[in-house]
Amino acid sequence: MYTAPITDFPLACATTPFLSDGGECGRLMAGRDWSSTSLGPIELWPRCLTSALSILLRSRVPIVMLWGHDGVMLYNDAYSEFAGSRHPASLGSNVRESWPELAGFNDTVIAKALAGNTLHYRDHELTILRNGAPETVWMDLNYSPVVDEAGVPAGVICFLAETTEKVAAERRAAFLLALSDELRPLTTPADIMNRTAERLGELLDASRVFYAEITDAGMMTVERDYSRGVESIVGAHSLASFGPDLLAAYRAGEPVVVRNVGGDERLSAPARAGLASRQVGAFIDVVLFNEARWVGLLAVQNASPRIWSPAEEKLVQEVGERVRVAIERVRAERDRLWDLSQDMLARADFAGMMSAVNPAWSKVLGWSETELLTRGYANFMHPDDVGSSTDAIAGMTVTGQPARFENRVSTRDGGWRHIEWTVAPEPDGENFVAVGRDLTDTKARAAELDTAREALRQSQKMEAVGQLTGGIAHDFNNMLTGIIGSLDLIRRNIGAGRPERVDRYIDAANASAQRAAALTSRLLAFGRRQSLDLRAVDINALVRSMNELADRTLGEQTVLETYLNPDLWVASSDVNQLESAFLNLCINARDAMPDGGKLVVETDNVSLDEHYVSNHPGLASGEYVVLSVSDTGIGMSPATLEKVFEPFFTTKPVGQGTGLGLSMIYGFTRQSGGHVRIYSELGVGTTVKLFIPRSHEGTEPVHASKAEIVSGQGETVLVVEDDPSVRLIVTEVLGEIGYGVIEAFDATSALPILESGRAIDLLITDVGLPGMNGRQLAEIARKSRPQLKVLFITGYARNAAVRSGFLDKGMDMLTKPFAMDELAMKIRDVFDG
Ligand code: ADP
Ligand code: MG
Repeated sequence: MYTAPITDFPLACATTPFLSDGGECGRLMAGRDWSSTSLGPIELWPRCLTSALSILLRSRVPIVMLWGHDGVMLYNDAYSEFAGSRHPASLGSNVRESWPELAGFNDTVIAKALAGNTLHYRDHELTILRNGAPETVWMDLNYSPVVDEAGVPAGVICFLAETTEKVAAERRAAFLLALSDELRPLTTPADIMNRTAERLGELLDASRVFYAEITDAGMMTVERDYSRGVESIVGAHSLASFGPDLLAAYRAGEPVVVRNVGGDERLSAPARAGLASRQVGAFIDVVLFNEARWVGLLAVQNASPRIWSPAEEKLVQEVGERVRVAIERVRAERDRLWDLSQDMLARADFAGMMSAVNPAWSKVLGWSETELLTRGYANFMHPDDVGSSTDAIAGMTVTGQPARFENRVSTRDGGWRHIEWTVAPEPDGENFVAVGRDLTDTKARAAELDTAREALRQSQKMEAVGQLTGGIAHDFNNMLTGIIGSLDLIRRNIGAGRPERVDRYIDAANASAQRAAALTSRLLAFGRRQSLDLRAVDINALVRSMNELADRTLGEQTVLETYLNPDLWVASSDVNQLESAFLNLCINARDAMPDGGKLVVETDNVSLDEHYVSNHPGLASGEYVVLSVSDTGIGMSPATLEKVFEPFFTTKPVGQGTGLGLSMIYGFTRQSGGHVRIYSELGVGTTVKLFIPRSHEGTEPVHASKAEIVSGQGETVLVVEDDPSVRLIVTEVLGEIGYGVIEAFDATSALPILESGRAIDLLITDVGLPGMNGRQLAEIARKSRPQLKVLFITGYARNAAVRSGFLDKGMDMLTKPFAMDELAMKIRDVFDG
């Protein structure tokens, strides 16, 4: 331990030449008694220390030396300025005690330098407390060890330069640049204020930032603010409450910087109280002028007292200027928009008057601005549109939401324009703004387009109808030729007394007529206009019963294989249509395999899920029975595949194909709630799958062939039919097979018969009668004769596509054309069922 000898103060001065010309700090050091410090009496300080001090004290650059492990601070006048209020107490003190906020940093520096290292920092950020409040500063710091006579580091000397101003300027420039970029695309003053307040608040870590507009009435309105940990002050505030001194400062145009609201004399007592109640402890207010007019105020506030740096003041000032310019820019653009807009813009009140209209109004409608502003807007609306328009406007007072409507508005020259309006209420509850777009031309163009489209559709339809009727006419001509020719031959042969040849011609005529009937039934099937008799069907049984027929159709080179699912579900379908569809598929397969091959018939159960049916419009998800017919034939090209369901589409030579097979199958399956899929590959083969909805009823036995004619037992039948030849045939046949017949040609003549006391066992009536239809007739008849059996005959069951919904108990239906044995069997069914 070193014990300091007792020395005189003036002696010390004379013995310390290294302190002369050392400025204020040199004098202070000379006047101090160092003997009680860790450095010991000044006249015994080592050479290395005194020579370093002589350089340090004479320098104009801030330099500080930290001596020994304690880091005793010795510095010059330039440094003392940097130290602020810490000087002079820090001179000669232990650095860790004088600058506790930097103790950690200084620990590192002292340790490294005393180990012989130099250290350099550029723009190093430090938060220091040199003036009573925390302050962020930036510095360039260069540390070097000071070595003693033996070359061992005894202290560290630091050359420092505060770069706070430079760094702040760089940051301010970068911030302003980024802010300008952010503000440029914004289009409303509110957005600009909002964004600025947010960015500035984040940068300065302020409690509240806002841009206020100053109105002529001495009010300050804040539309939005940025606030953190304090309440928002959005709203209107009276300027008078700031007090006369502050207002005078504002008027002078200088920024008002207050570090501590509680202790600032420029603020009146009420102003201080007002600010304190708004949680303002410190603030910077920058007033903004447009020419000589005070238009706004940018305020940055801190909840607690805060020392604002000159850099921060400057930043707030520059930001304020930028906000003002940005706001003026969007206002100018808005004005330009108002003047140049093609749309009609207006401000109006809910009482019915407009207070401002833009020039587009006069351009579109021809009315002058004065006319528009003095006559009340409803007067310009078409009388039929006034109600809906004023309702939409009034609705805004309830919802507070924008609304949209269309109406017709009168023009000065007596016409009407279609206008689409968007209206939005203003916050005052009395006014709203309106934007109107003239739709007149758009509407006219849309109408023209519709007409053109309709014309195109018509011509396409005509073309399709032309193709269809051409095809049918051709086929029918062939069939009619067969019938007419045969009838002609019959007449001639009978006339010539050669009745033995007549039978052949009757057969020929009959065959042609059958083909014609088949053709019409296919057409009806495609048009989905046929009367379907949906019943529970066992498709396996149907396939088995058709096997023999299919086999015969196929010829010798073709092998038929069937794979029937033994647990097949019962399907819901029309047996006759299904038979005919199945046969058609077999025939197509045969045609596709002219040199023979293999035909596979399969049945199976499938459940179609939502995903599958979502890709097949018209198909419902659920359970289906699938009947598939596959061949190893020529297959189809994609182009053919696209057209196969079109009626009359055929690739077969004239006389062989009608092009109605698949179209009939398509129509029939869709009508019965099912669906057809075709998989085909050219040269490989084709599979056609019919998806038939599952039924949950029991099945009836399938009868593939017709029974012999069933005769009557003298029952009385009333036949109502307007077509004389059909009526003639029906009555003739009924008479022949043993029924008593009464005939009527329409409902009016049939009713008296039904209402008389005559015994009638069965009513056979056409559905499509002139006047009252057959269905209505049956209903009336059933009122007086509830047990009466009814058989409807129909050619075209447009309204009764599926019988089940049409027929009550004891009723049945027969579709034209029908063979006489079918009629006889049906009558028997009705009596028996
Ligand atoms: P048609 O058999 O009278 O030509 P369809 O409607 O039954 O009429 O068939 C239309 C067309 O579809 C046929 O002409 C043929 O080109 C094609 N087609 C149908 N089934 C098959 C099949 N199994 N293999 C190859 N092509 C087929
Ligand atoms: Mg065919």
